[in-house]
Amino acid sequence: MSIEVLRRALETVAGWPNPPQVHLTGGEPFLFFDLLLEGTRMAADLGITAYVETNAMWCVDEDVAGERFRRLRDAGLSAVLVSCSPFHAVKIPPIRTVNAVRAALQVFGSPRTIVYLAEFLQIVQQFDLESPTPLERYEEQFGAERASQILWDGYGIISGGRAGYKLGHLVECQPAEVFGEENCAGNILYAPHSHMDLYGNYIPAFCGGLTAADWRTEDPFQRPHPELVELLIEHGPYGLFAMAQERYDYRPLPGDYAGKCHLCVDVRWHLAEVKPDDYPELRPVSFYENI
Ligand code: SF4
Repeated sequence: MSIEVLRRALETVAGWPNPPQVHLTGGEPFLFFDLLLEGTRMAADLGITAYVETNAMWCVDEDVAGERFRRLRDAGLSAVLVSCSPFHAVKIPPIRTVNAVRAALQVFGSPRTIVYLAEFLQIVQQFDLESPTPLERYEEQFGAERASQILWDGYGIISGGRAGYKLGHLVECQPAEVFGEENCAGNILYAPHSHMDLYGNYIPAFCGGLTAADWRTEDPFQRPHPELVELLIEHGPYGLFAMAQERYDYRPLPGDYAGKCHLCVDVRWHLAEVKPDDYPELRPVSFYENI
């Protein structure tokens, strides 16, 4: 995200009724520390409460981490959120998470250092502190039932993205019809947490790959939203499934679905492949290219 786009995003949020707290996130925002610092200053100037969310991959040195946190605090940052989970530990040695938490505690103190999720701090350290841990190790170490508790229930993971495909074997999967009564009005219209990216995508809640509006030019709270978003608001992923079966030859996934978002993302993936130009709400395209 360029500094101009970041400024525009912050000014947009500042203009919303009841401007929300903003989390500066990525990817990994510390990869572009100057941008993060400037974004923190801009948010402070606009009267926006901002915190940063980091995966700690850069925290090889606790002193360097402390110095960066101090500069952010002095620029007006309200808090640091350090991500901690088996999913992050697939790429990030736990020692870096520990470094980040220690440094954040030194600079921001306890109430303003958030570890999401703190209960995983101990769990990820059970494996090698200096190396990443593949997810398969949880099943090998604890067995399928306990691995399912840790990875699905413990993190409250949402079955969109890769989760349904990679970890669906750890939960009881269900056919699409089971989700027939569920709509997504709450997730899309009343999301307490949403995302704005550099391409203008306003992504409600955690609905990765689904854009409800272009935040640069549209009011994300104004209906009607794009066709598929409206369909999900009214009829949920089963409505999407039925439409895609009828119009685009979508075939149910052998082995069923790990949750309603798994159903949703599987149908959207199909639509993004067979009709990429018909549904601009299936953005960013890279979500589907990399799933
Ligand atoms: S089913 Fe789709 S639209 Fe509904 S909450 Fe899940 S990802 Fe979002």
